[in-house]
This record gives sequence, C-alpha cells and structure tokens, in this order.
Amino acid sequence: MLVLPKQYYDVAIIGGGILGASIAYFISASSSNSVILLEREKEIAVHASSRNTGKVHAPFLYDPINKGLFARAAYLGFQMLREYCDIFALPFKQDGVLSVATYDKGIDILHKYLDWGISNGLQGDELYLIDNNRISKIEPNVRCLSAIYCSRDASVDYGSIARHLVHNASELGCTVAKGMNAVNVKKTNKRLEVQIIPDYSNFRLIVDSRKTDRLENKSNIKDSLRPDLFEAGTNLRTSGFKIYVNYLINAAGGNALNIAHQMNIAKKYNNLYFRGEYWLAPPEYQRVTKLSIYSVPMFPEFPFLDPHWVVRYDGSNEIGPNAVPVLGPYGYDWRSNLRRFTPKVLELAKNSGILKHMLNSRFIYLLGRELLSSVSKTAMINRVRKFLPILNPSLFTQRGTSGIRSLLVDNNGKFLPEMIEFRDESSLHILNYNSPGATGALPISASIVSRLIKDGLLQSNREKQIRRKDQWNIHNIDSKLSGKSI
Ligand SMILES: Cc1cc2nc3c(=O)[nH]c(=O)nc-3n(C[C@H](O)[C@H](O)[C@H](O)COP(=O)(O)OP(=O)(O)OC[C@H]3O[C@@H](n4cnc5c(N)ncnc54)[C@H](O)[C@@H]3O)c2cc1C
Repeated sequence: MLVLPKQYYDVAIIGGGILGASIAYFISASSSNSVILLEREKEIAVHASSRNTGKVHAPFLYDPINKGLFARAAYLGFQMLREYCDIFALPFKQDGVLSVATYDKGIDILHKYLDWGISNGLQGDELYLIDNNRISKIEPNVRCLSAIYCSRDASVDYGSIARHLVHNASELGCTVAKGMNAVNVKKTNKRLEVQIIPDYSNFRLIVDSRKTDRLENKSNIKDSLRPDLFEAGTNLRTSGFKIYVNYLINAAGGNALNIAHQMNIAKKYNNLYFRGEYWLAPPEYQRVTKLSIYSVPMFPEFPFLDPHWVVRYDGSNEIGPNAVPVLGPYGYDWRSNLRRFTPKVLELAKNSGILKHMLNSRFIYLLGRELLSSVSKTAMINRVRKFLPILNPSLFTQRGTSGIRSLLVDNNGKFLPEMIEFRDESSLHILNYNSPGATGALPISASIVSRLIKDGLLQSNREKQIRRKDQWNIHNIDSKLSGKSI
C-alpha cells in the first residue's frame, strides 16, 4: 500500500533499489532514528536492481588495486546474501561460472583473473584454470582456448531481495513512501528541504477555498497529508510538497548524480549511460550448459563485460547484456531517448572529458559494435556463438528485460573504476554504483550505517540490533570492507 509521509524525519533515503533498500534495512534495524525511504516509482526496485543478470559475482573479475572496494564487497556479499536468502526462503543458487578465452591475449587475462581472485580471498579449490580436455567433459558444447572455473558464484533474484529488505525495514519502523519523486533538495538554516512530487495516479489533490488543501491517499482516505506541508500560493500539482530532514542519503542509482549536482556536489563528474540488452533463449536450449559462461572482454579497459550465456536462478537462459549508448538513466526505448536528446547533447558538448572519449578510435569501434548488436539479433547472438557455436539465432524470438548502467566519467574522460561516496555535514551521495553493486549492496550498506553511527550522525539502538534475525555485526563488516581486518 502507498503511504503519505509526515513533515519531519531524521533521515531520508532517496532511491528504493537494492542499495537504498539495504541502507533502509540497516538503519531501521540498528538505530533509533526516524527514517523515510523515498521511491519515485509505485514499486520497489523496478530499475537496475530488477534489470540485471542476477549474478552474485565472485571477486575474480576485479583488480584488487583499483577495484578493491567492489572486490571486498563482492567477497562479503556472497556470504551475506546466502544467509539472508536462507533466513527468508528466497532463491539463492550457488551454480558456479566458467570464464572463457576465445582469443590468444584473452588467456593472459584469464591468468590475471586467477591472480586477482586469489588476492581477493578466493581459495584454490574455488577458482582454478581448466584445460581444454576437461572443458569438453564439463561443458561439451563450449569452444574456447582456455577457461577458469569459479564455484563461488551464484544466481539470485535481486528485485525480490530488495522488496524483502524494504518489507523488513518497514516492520522495523521505516516509512516507505512509494510514488514520491524527490525533485529538489535544498539546504535551509537547520535542515534539508526535500521537494516531492507525488504520483497523482495514487493520490488525490483536494484544493478548496477554506484553505484546507490536502493530498489524500486514494487507497486509504484516512491517510491524508497535512496542509502545512504545502507552500502558500504555489501550484500543488507542479510543485508538490516539502518534507524536512536532518540527513539525506542519495542512493538514486542513475539519477544520483543529478541530485548531487543540485547540492553542488561532484560537479566535475558526468554520466554516460549504456543499456544492457538481453535475448531470452528458447526452452530447447535449457540443457545446453550447466554453468553460466562469461567470455574475456575484447576491450578490458572499458567497464563492461561482453555478453554472457546466462543461467538464471530459475534455470532459464538468456544472452546478454551488451552495452548500447543511450541518453538517460531511463532510456529503455527510443521515445525516452528522443526526449533527452537536446539536453544531453548540450551537456556532452560542454564536457571536454566526454569529447575525448568520442575521439578515441577504440571507443568509437566499441560503440559501433554495441549498436550493431542492438539492431541485429544475429550480431548479438553471434557474440556468444564464439564460445557456444551450437546456438541458432533464428530460434531466439523474444527480447529480455534491458537495464541501464550509469557510468561516471571525470573531466579527463576517464571512467571511474568503482563506486564513489561524497559526504558533507548533512548528506551522503553514492555515485557510480554499477556491477557488482547488487552483489555488494548488503556489506556496503552495513558499512555506511556503521560509519554514520560511529560519526554520531545516527543513534545506535542495541535492542533493535538484538531483535534482528541475521547475526551480522555492522561494525565488523565495516572493518572487513575497509580492509582493516580479514
Ligand atoms: C544490465 C545490467 C546487468 C547487471 N548485472 C549485475 C549482476 O549480475 N550482479 C551484480 O551484482 N550487479 C549487476 N548489475 C549492477 C546492479 O544491478 C546495480 O549496481 C544495482 O542494481 C544498483 O542498485 P541501486 O539501488 O543503486 O540502483 P537502482 O536499482 O537503479 O535504484 C535506484 C532507485 O532510485 C529511484 N529514484 C531515482 N531518482 C529518484 C528520485 N528523485 N526520487 C525518488 N526515487 C528516485 C529509482 O526509481 C530507482 O528505483 C547489473 C546492472 C545492469 C544495468
């Protein structure tokens, strides 16, 4: 059910994806502060968190030097997700993955993955090279020059995990406000002012001459918004209403940079967006492999892998994702991209870093290849046929659900290797939260909440912590994630 917020909260979290959901869970489960989770859609986790490959990524894909945080988060996330799914009977299938090299230089990259995986905590019996002879025994349909196998990789449904975390958070006292778009955040003398436009398909605006303007919840008439939240003389439909908070956590995924910019934070960064598309495999391919198969990317310097052969938690198969450039965080179709065309082109034209990318021949080649695999099904399936030649493109008839990565680039045109946090006295912004963001959401959120408690910005509540079904100590998780303990 959708609810209307009150006027004041200690903390507001913007974004009900897996990250905002995990933060809401740990705050409500560990502190006494009042907290509101604001989600612009009518449901939790309808964007990247439900539009991904659903893998609990093992940390062999991440360089421990420049992706150390994501590597540690992926390592810890595996165990936490396993425990959480176990407690609440959600699917968690430890099904393993094979990463294959189909070209000579790719073999060196496999060796690098092996070193990274071991440095990031994987054991020799969880990650190892396998020769061609054994590959043909394990996966007879796969063709490659060499491969590594990792058993500590799993498949889950991140959308249901996020919804379940929000359900737990709400039981523990968090206000979950769906259909509430936080359009502007402003610092006032004492607090932050968050301007919200509600989704009017769920809320009714009652405007009358006796100055008792109010917003009513269509599904629960008793839940109406107090008039003092509206600013006199404004058009409620276009300006919505305001709430006031002491602290803001920006976990708005692809929209997070816009919110940070409103507060004059992270101004030197820009976003580039890439849509990851999938094709559903027909049922006759269900037994083509037992494992998910990744291939070593042709352009390892860019932050996405090549399309995989995906085995999902329910046993269904897909091919994807590719990385098609689009113009916004919700650019799922051409109409939304067309709407964003002029503002995005103007923004790109002003950014010298992005322009440098546009002049890089490898980047231009990559864009061409990704666009081709968007318009041509055969081109897309052929990228996977390199290691799974048994596939026949004509049997693929249905596209899967695509998801959008929002990648940060700096003024010099460099992609940031992993997530980045910006903090000031009244807000925290989590930007560039891409893969393996879903895998790492639980430890990263536990660490954020632990640090906010240690810094006195949240008040710890021992009783609530003891009532939690999981046995996680957020402060221990924080020191493991920061690399201070093993
Ligand atoms: C194609 C693809 C495949 C991937 N595969 C994997 C994988 O296999 N394993 C893995 O670990 N990771 C994977 N990832 C990455 C992972 O999905 C993301 O890192 C993660 O889902 C990000 O979560 P989030 O909560 O930050 O963002 P989101 O899920 O996008 O959530 C952000 C939320 O904020 C809301 N919001 C935005 N602005 C506002 C506002 N102003 N007011 C209120 N609400 C707002 C949005 O509606 C949205 O619900 C993949 C990503 C993609 C795109």
